Amino acid sequence: MQNTRADVADPILVNDLRRHAVTTETVVRTSVERVLSSGWYVLGAEVEAFEQEFAEYCGVGHCVGVANGTEAIELGLRALGVGRGSRVATVANAGFYTTTALMALGAEPVFVDVDRDTKLMNLAHLKQILAESTLDAVVVTHLFGLLHDMEGVLDLTAPAGVPVFEDCAQAHGARRGGRRAGSFGAAASFSFYPTKNLGALGDGGAVVTGSADVAQQVRRLRQYGWESRYHAGVRGGRNSRLDEMQAAVLRAKLPFLDAWNRRRRDIATRYSQEIRNPRVECPPVHEEEYVAHLYVVVSAEREALRAHLTEAAIQTDVHYPVPDHRQPALTDPSGPAAALPVTDDLSVSIVTLPCHSELSDEEVTRVISRVNTW
Ligand SMILES: *Cc1c(COP(=O)(O)O)cnc(C)c1O
Repeated sequence: MQNTRADVADPILVNDLRRHAVTTETVVRTSVERVLSSGWYVLGAEVEAFEQEFAEYCGVGHCVGVANGTEAIELGLRALGVGRGSRVATVANAGFYTTTALMALGAEPVFVDVDRDTKLMNLAHLKQILAESTLDAVVVTHLFGLLHDMEGVLDLTAPAGVPVFEDCAQAHGARRGGRRAGSFGAAASFSFYPTKNLGALGDGGAVVTGSADVAQQVRRLRQYGWESRYHAGVRGGRNSRLDEMQAAVLRAKLPFLDAWNRRRRDIATRYSQEIRNPRVECPPVHEEEYVAHLYVVVSAEREALRAHLTEAAIQTDVHYPVPDHRQPALTDPSGPAAALPVTDDLSVSIVTLPCHSELSDEEVTRVISRVNTW
Protein backbone atom coordinates (compact mmCIF):
# COMPACT_ATOMS: atom_id res chain seq x y z
CA MET A 1 0.00 0.00 0.00
CA GLN A 2 1.34 3.42 -0.94
CA ASN A 3 1.62 6.05 1.76
CA THR A 4 0.09 9.41 1.05
CA ARG A 5 1.18 11.12 4.26
CA ALA A 6 4.84 11.97 4.45
CA ASP A 7 4.92 11.77 8.25
CA VAL A 8 3.84 8.13 8.28
CA ALA A 9 6.57 5.72 7.25
CA ASP A 10 5.99 2.40 5.49
CA PRO A 11 5.59 -0.47 7.90
CA ILE A 12 8.71 -2.51 8.59
CA LEU A 13 7.80 -6.18 8.51
CA VAL A 14 9.47 -9.17 10.17
CA ASN A 15 9.34 -10.86 6.74
CA ASP A 16 8.59 -9.10 3.48
CA LEU A 17 8.08 -11.81 0.85
CA ARG A 18 6.71 -9.38 -1.73
CA ARG A 19 9.99 -7.46 -1.74
CA HIS A 20 11.89 -10.73 -1.89
CA ALA A 21 9.78 -11.78 -4.90
CA VAL A 22 10.71 -8.57 -6.71
CA THR A 23 14.46 -9.07 -6.23
CA THR A 24 14.29 -12.62 -7.61
CA GLU A 25 11.51 -12.21 -10.15
CA THR A 26 13.49 -12.68 -13.38
CA VAL A 27 15.36 -15.85 -12.41
CA VAL A 28 12.31 -17.36 -10.75
CA ARG A 29 10.08 -16.70 -13.78
CA THR A 30 12.61 -18.36 -16.10
CA SER A 31 12.70 -21.43 -13.84
CA VAL A 32 8.95 -21.73 -13.50
CA GLU A 33 8.49 -21.44 -17.27
CA ARG A 34 11.13 -24.10 -17.88
CA VAL A 35 9.25 -26.55 -15.62
CA LEU A 36 5.88 -25.62 -17.08
CA SER A 37 6.98 -26.45 -20.61
CA SER A 38 8.89 -29.59 -19.58
CA GLY A 39 5.73 -31.62 -18.93
CA TRP A 40 7.29 -33.24 -15.84
CA TYR A 41 6.26 -31.96 -12.41
CA VAL A 42 7.27 -34.28 -9.56
CA LEU A 43 10.70 -35.84 -8.84
CA GLY A 44 12.54 -35.20 -12.09
CA ALA A 45 15.58 -33.48 -13.53
CA GLU A 46 15.15 -30.26 -11.51
CA VAL A 47 14.94 -32.12 -8.20
CA GLU A 48 17.98 -34.21 -9.09
CA ALA A 49 19.97 -31.13 -10.09
CA PHE A 50 18.94 -29.26 -6.95
CA GLU A 51 19.85 -32.23 -4.76
CA GLN A 52 23.31 -32.30 -6.29
CA GLU A 53 23.81 -28.53 -6.08
CA PHE A 54 22.59 -28.27 -2.50
CA ALA A 55 24.68 -31.26 -1.35
CA GLU A 56 27.72 -29.56 -2.87
CA TYR A 57 26.81 -26.25 -1.23
CA CYS A 58 26.53 -27.95 2.19
CA GLY A 59 29.70 -29.95 1.65
CA VAL A 60 28.03 -33.35 2.05
CA GLY A 61 27.76 -36.36 -0.20
CA HIS A 62 23.98 -36.60 -0.48
CA CYS A 63 20.81 -34.54 -0.48
CA VAL A 64 17.27 -35.91 -0.77
CA GLY A 65 14.43 -33.48 -1.44
CA VAL A 66 11.23 -34.01 0.54
CA ALA A 67 7.92 -32.19 0.99
CA ASN A 68 8.76 -29.98 3.99
CA GLY A 69 11.15 -29.49 6.89
CA THR A 70 9.13 -31.38 9.47
CA GLU A 71 9.00 -34.51 7.30
CA ALA A 72 12.72 -34.07 6.62
CA ILE A 73 13.26 -34.45 10.39
CA GLU A 74 10.86 -37.39 10.59
CA LEU A 75 12.21 -39.33 7.60
CA GLY A 76 15.83 -38.48 8.40
CA LEU A 77 15.47 -39.77 11.94
CA ARG A 78 13.62 -42.87 10.76
CA ALA A 79 16.49 -43.59 8.39
CA LEU A 80 18.84 -43.40 11.40
CA GLY A 81 16.77 -46.08 13.14
CA VAL A 82 14.55 -43.90 15.33
CA GLY A 83 11.07 -45.35 15.77
CA ARG A 84 8.43 -46.38 18.28
CA GLY A 85 9.78 -46.15 21.83
CA SER A 86 13.06 -44.44 20.87
CA ARG A 87 14.26 -41.72 23.23
CA VAL A 88 15.47 -38.61 21.44
CA ALA A 89 17.00 -35.55 23.10
CA THR A 90 15.86 -32.19 21.74
CA VAL A 91 15.21 -28.63 22.89
CA ALA A 92 11.76 -27.29 23.78
CA ASN A 93 12.22 -23.73 22.43
CA ALA A 94 12.31 -24.49 18.70
CA GLY A 95 8.69 -24.29 17.64
CA PHE A 96 7.42 -27.88 18.18
CA TYR A 97 8.66 -29.07 14.74
CA THR A 98 11.04 -31.77 16.00
CA THR A 99 8.52 -32.79 18.64
CA THR A 100 5.87 -33.15 15.91
CA ALA A 101 8.22 -35.41 13.99
CA LEU A 102 9.01 -37.45 17.10
CA MET A 103 5.32 -37.89 17.88
CA ALA A 104 4.73 -39.12 14.32
CA LEU A 105 7.55 -41.64 14.83
CA GLY A 106 6.15 -42.80 18.17
CA ALA A 107 9.42 -41.67 19.77
CA GLU A 108 9.75 -39.93 23.12
CA PRO A 109 11.18 -36.41 23.25
CA VAL A 110 13.70 -35.96 26.08
CA PHE A 111 13.84 -32.21 26.57
CA VAL A 112 17.16 -30.49 27.21
CA ASP A 113 17.28 -26.91 28.52
CA VAL A 114 18.99 -24.14 26.53
CA ASP A 115 21.70 -21.53 27.17
CA ARG A 116 20.45 -18.06 27.91
CA ASP A 117 23.11 -16.47 25.65
CA THR A 118 22.88 -18.64 22.56
CA LYS A 119 19.31 -20.00 23.03
CA LEU A 120 20.79 -23.34 21.89
CA MET A 121 20.92 -26.74 23.61
CA ASN A 122 22.74 -26.55 26.96
CA LEU A 123 25.58 -29.04 26.76
CA ALA A 124 25.97 -29.45 30.54
CA HIS A 125 22.32 -30.55 30.71
CA LEU A 126 22.80 -32.87 27.72
CA LYS A 127 25.84 -34.37 29.45
CA GLN A 128 23.80 -34.99 32.59
CA ILE A 129 21.01 -36.70 30.62
CA LEU A 130 23.53 -38.88 28.78
CA ALA A 131 25.04 -39.92 32.12
CA GLU A 132 21.66 -40.79 33.64
CA SER A 133 19.92 -42.59 30.78
CA THR A 134 20.29 -43.96 27.29
CA LEU A 135 19.36 -42.00 24.20
CA ASP A 136 18.75 -43.22 20.65
CA ALA A 137 19.53 -39.87 19.02
CA VAL A 138 20.09 -36.17 19.70
CA VAL A 139 18.50 -33.48 17.53
CA VAL A 140 20.46 -30.22 17.58
CA THR A 141 18.51 -27.21 16.27
CA HIS A 142 20.64 -24.32 14.99
CA LEU A 143 17.98 -21.90 16.19
CA PHE A 144 17.62 -18.37 14.78
CA GLY A 145 20.46 -19.15 12.35
CA LEU A 146 23.24 -19.83 14.86
CA LEU A 147 25.24 -22.99 14.17
CA HIS A 148 25.79 -24.77 17.49
CA ASP A 149 29.23 -25.74 18.79
CA MET A 150 29.05 -29.12 17.03
CA GLU A 151 32.47 -30.20 18.25
CA GLY A 152 31.21 -29.78 21.81
CA VAL A 153 28.06 -31.77 20.99
CA LEU A 154 29.92 -34.60 19.25
CA ASP A 155 32.47 -34.83 22.10
CA LEU A 156 29.56 -35.77 24.37
CA THR A 157 27.61 -38.04 22.03
CA ALA A 158 30.38 -39.92 20.21
CA PRO A 159 31.65 -41.89 23.26
CA ALA A 160 28.04 -42.95 23.95
CA GLY A 161 27.54 -43.94 20.31
CA VAL A 162 24.48 -41.71 19.98
CA PRO A 163 23.83 -40.32 16.47
CA VAL A 164 23.37 -36.56 16.13
CA PHE A 165 20.81 -35.07 13.76
CA GLU A 166 20.97 -31.37 12.85
CA ASP A 167 17.82 -29.35 12.26
CA CYS A 168 19.09 -26.67 9.87
CA ALA A 169 15.71 -25.15 8.96
CA GLN A 170 16.94 -21.75 10.18
CA ALA A 171 20.63 -22.08 9.35
CA HIS A 172 21.15 -22.60 5.58
CA GLY A 173 24.77 -21.73 4.87
CA ALA A 174 25.98 -21.06 8.44
CA ARG A 175 29.63 -22.06 8.73
CA ARG A 176 32.14 -22.95 11.44
CA GLY A 177 35.77 -23.78 10.64
CA GLY A 178 34.88 -23.85 6.94
CA ARG A 179 32.12 -26.44 7.43
CA ARG A 180 28.48 -25.70 6.78
CA ALA A 181 25.45 -26.49 8.90
CA GLY A 182 24.28 -29.98 8.02
CA SER A 183 27.76 -31.44 7.50
CA PHE A 184 28.51 -32.33 11.14
CA GLY A 185 25.84 -34.84 12.16
CA ALA A 186 24.88 -38.30 10.89
CA ALA A 187 22.16 -36.52 8.91
CA ALA A 188 20.45 -33.13 8.84
CA SER A 189 17.20 -31.54 7.76
CA PHE A 190 16.36 -28.32 5.93
CA SER A 191 13.08 -26.52 5.35
CA PHE A 192 12.47 -24.30 2.32
CA TYR A 193 9.30 -22.72 3.68
CA PRO A 194 9.02 -19.28 1.99
CA THR A 195 10.32 -17.27 4.97
CA LYS A 196 13.48 -19.35 5.49
CA ASN A 197 16.90 -18.01 4.39
CA LEU A 198 16.49 -20.17 1.27
CA GLY A 199 12.76 -20.27 0.57
CA ALA A 200 10.58 -21.86 -2.11
CA LEU A 201 7.21 -20.60 -3.40
CA GLY A 202 5.46 -23.09 -1.17
CA ASP A 203 6.55 -26.00 0.98
CA GLY A 204 9.78 -27.89 0.52
CA GLY A 205 12.46 -29.64 2.53
CA ALA A 206 15.55 -31.82 2.30
CA VAL A 207 17.63 -34.32 4.19
CA VAL A 208 21.40 -34.10 3.74
CA THR A 209 23.84 -36.77 4.87
CA GLY A 210 27.30 -38.14 4.24
CA SER A 211 25.94 -41.67 4.24
CA ALA A 212 24.81 -43.27 0.98
CA ASP A 213 22.74 -45.79 2.99
CA VAL A 214 20.87 -43.11 4.93
CA ALA A 215 20.23 -41.18 1.73
CA GLN A 216 18.89 -44.28 -0.03
CA GLN A 217 16.63 -45.06 2.91
CA VAL A 218 15.17 -41.52 2.84
CA ARG A 219 14.63 -41.87 -0.95
CA ARG A 220 12.55 -44.97 -0.23
CA LEU A 221 10.67 -43.45 2.69
CA ARG A 222 9.67 -40.31 0.76
CA GLN A 223 7.88 -42.42 -1.83
CA TYR A 224 5.68 -45.05 -0.14
CA GLY A 225 8.64 -47.15 1.03
CA TRP A 226 9.28 -48.23 -2.56
CA GLU A 227 12.52 -50.12 -3.16
CA SER A 228 11.63 -50.02 -6.80
CA ARG A 229 8.51 -48.76 -8.57
CA TYR A 230 5.38 -50.29 -6.98
CA HIS A 231 7.48 -52.52 -4.67
CA ALA A 232 7.17 -51.31 -1.10
CA GLY A 233 10.00 -52.96 0.79
CA VAL A 234 10.42 -50.48 3.62
CA ARG A 235 8.04 -49.75 6.47
CA GLY A 236 7.18 -46.20 7.49
CA GLY A 237 7.06 -44.86 3.95
CA ARG A 238 4.78 -42.09 2.82
CA ASN A 239 4.36 -39.51 0.08
CA SER A 240 6.80 -36.70 0.88
CA ARG A 241 8.18 -35.58 -2.47
CA LEU A 242 9.70 -32.27 -3.54
CA ASP A 243 8.13 -31.08 -6.77
CA GLU A 244 9.95 -29.82 -9.85
CA MET A 245 8.62 -26.27 -9.62
CA GLN A 246 9.97 -25.77 -6.09
CA ALA A 247 13.29 -27.42 -6.94
CA ALA A 248 13.70 -25.13 -9.97
CA VAL A 249 12.94 -22.04 -7.84
CA LEU A 250 15.44 -23.19 -5.20
CA ARG A 251 18.11 -23.74 -7.87
CA ALA A 252 17.54 -20.20 -9.12
CA LYS A 253 17.88 -18.73 -5.64
CA LEU A 254 20.78 -20.80 -4.25
CA PRO A 255 23.52 -18.69 -5.93
CA PHE A 256 22.25 -15.64 -3.98
CA LEU A 257 22.07 -17.32 -0.58
CA ASP A 258 25.51 -16.30 0.71
CA ALA A 259 24.96 -12.64 -0.23
CA TRP A 260 21.52 -12.64 1.43
CA ASN A 261 23.02 -14.21 4.56
CA ARG A 262 25.75 -11.54 4.64
CA ARG A 263 23.12 -8.82 4.40
CA ARG A 264 21.11 -10.40 7.23
CA ARG A 265 24.26 -10.69 9.35
CA ASP A 266 25.24 -7.05 8.68
CA ILE A 267 21.80 -5.93 9.88
CA ALA A 268 22.08 -8.10 13.01
CA THR A 269 25.56 -6.70 13.66
CA ARG A 270 24.24 -3.14 13.46
CA TYR A 271 21.42 -4.01 15.89
CA SER A 272 23.84 -5.57 18.37
CA GLN A 273 26.28 -2.64 18.14
CA GLU A 274 23.82 0.25 18.02
CA ILE A 275 20.92 -0.78 20.22
CA ARG A 276 21.68 0.81 23.58
CA ASN A 277 18.85 0.29 26.00
CA PRO A 278 19.38 -1.20 29.47
CA ARG A 279 15.97 -2.91 29.24
CA VAL A 280 16.87 -4.73 25.99
CA GLU A 281 19.40 -7.56 25.90
CA CYS A 282 20.88 -8.10 22.42
CA PRO A 283 22.72 -11.19 21.17
CA PRO A 284 26.48 -10.79 20.69
CA VAL A 285 27.97 -9.99 17.29
CA HIS A 286 28.68 -13.23 15.41
CA GLU A 287 30.74 -14.19 12.40
CA GLU A 288 29.75 -16.61 9.68
CA GLU A 289 28.44 -19.20 12.17
CA TYR A 290 25.32 -17.00 12.30
CA VAL A 291 23.06 -16.38 9.28
CA ALA A 292 20.59 -14.18 11.21
CA HIS A 293 17.43 -16.04 10.27
CA LEU A 294 15.77 -14.28 13.18
CA TYR A 295 17.13 -11.45 15.34
CA VAL A 296 15.88 -12.11 18.85
CA VAL A 297 16.32 -9.82 21.84
CA VAL A 298 15.32 -10.40 25.46
CA SER A 299 13.33 -7.99 27.61
CA ALA A 300 11.50 -8.47 30.89
CA GLU A 301 8.88 -5.99 29.62
CA ARG A 302 8.34 -7.59 26.27
CA GLU A 303 4.75 -6.48 25.67
CA ALA A 304 5.58 -2.83 26.38
CA LEU A 305 8.50 -2.96 23.94
CA ARG A 306 6.30 -4.57 21.29
CA ALA A 307 3.61 -1.91 21.75
CA HIS A 308 6.21 0.86 21.46
CA LEU A 309 7.44 -0.60 18.16
CA THR A 310 3.94 -1.26 16.82
CA GLU A 311 3.12 2.43 17.31
CA ALA A 312 5.98 3.24 14.93
CA ALA A 313 4.73 0.67 12.37
CA ILE A 314 7.54 -1.74 13.22
CA GLN A 315 6.30 -5.30 13.33
CA THR A 316 7.62 -7.78 15.89
CA ASP A 317 6.94 -11.44 16.63
CA VAL A 318 7.71 -14.05 19.27
CA HIS A 319 9.59 -17.22 18.31
CA TYR A 320 8.17 -19.05 20.17
CA PRO A 321 5.63 -18.20 22.88
CA VAL A 322 4.78 -21.76 24.03
CA PRO A 323 7.64 -24.17 24.73
CA ASP A 324 7.13 -27.74 23.50
CA HIS A 325 6.87 -29.23 26.99
CA ARG A 326 3.89 -26.94 27.67
CA GLN A 327 1.99 -27.53 24.42
CA PRO A 328 -1.45 -29.03 25.07
CA ALA A 329 -0.90 -31.48 22.20
CA LEU A 330 2.00 -33.00 24.14
CA THR A 331 1.32 -32.54 27.82
CA ASP A 332 0.15 -35.50 29.79
CA PRO A 333 -2.24 -33.79 32.21
CA SER A 334 -1.42 -36.29 34.94
CA GLY A 335 2.34 -35.74 34.78
CA PRO A 336 4.49 -32.70 35.49
CA ALA A 337 6.16 -30.79 32.64
CA ALA A 338 9.92 -31.19 32.33
CA ALA A 339 11.99 -28.73 34.40
CA LEU A 340 13.44 -26.32 31.83
CA PRO A 341 13.93 -23.03 33.70
CA VAL A 342 15.84 -21.12 31.00
CA THR A 343 13.48 -22.27 28.25
CA ASP A 344 10.49 -21.15 30.33
CA ASP A 345 12.06 -17.81 31.19
CA LEU A 346 12.98 -17.03 27.58
CA SER A 347 9.50 -17.94 26.31
CA VAL A 348 8.04 -14.95 28.17
CA SER A 349 10.84 -12.48 27.42
CA ILE A 350 12.04 -12.97 23.82
CA VAL A 351 11.08 -10.59 20.98
CA THR A 352 11.94 -10.91 17.28
CA LEU A 353 12.90 -7.69 15.46
CA PRO A 354 12.69 -7.33 11.65
CA CYS A 355 15.83 -8.78 10.03
CA HIS A 356 15.73 -9.86 6.40
CA SER A 357 17.85 -9.23 3.34
CA GLU A 358 15.55 -6.63 1.76
CA LEU A 359 15.54 -4.15 4.67
CA SER A 360 17.14 -0.81 3.79
CA ASP A 361 19.82 0.86 5.92
CA GLU A 362 17.34 3.62 6.69
CA GLU A 363 14.79 1.11 7.97
CA VAL A 364 17.39 -0.56 10.17
CA THR A 365 18.24 2.88 11.58
CA ARG A 366 14.54 3.47 12.26
CA VAL A 367 14.27 0.22 14.23
CA ILE A 368 17.42 1.03 16.24
CA SER A 369 16.35 4.54 17.19
CA ARG A 370 12.85 3.42 18.09
CA VAL A 371 14.21 0.73 20.44
CA ASN A 372 16.67 3.25 21.91
CA THR A 373 13.93 5.79 22.67
CA TRP A 374 11.88 3.23 24.62
C1 LIG B 1 10.47 -24.02 9.80
C2 LIG B 1 11.12 -24.97 10.73
C3 LIG B 1 10.89 -26.36 10.66
C4 LIG B 1 9.81 -26.98 9.85
O1 LIG B 1 9.81 -26.73 8.53
P1 LIG B 1 8.44 -26.90 7.69
O2 LIG B 1 8.94 -26.87 6.29
O3 LIG B 1 7.56 -25.73 8.03
O4 LIG B 1 7.83 -28.20 8.05
C5 LIG B 1 11.63 -27.19 11.49
N1 LIG B 1 12.50 -26.69 12.37
C6 LIG B 1 12.72 -25.37 12.50
C7 LIG B 1 13.70 -24.90 13.51
C8 LIG B 1 12.03 -24.46 11.70
O5 LIG B 1 12.24 -23.15 11.85
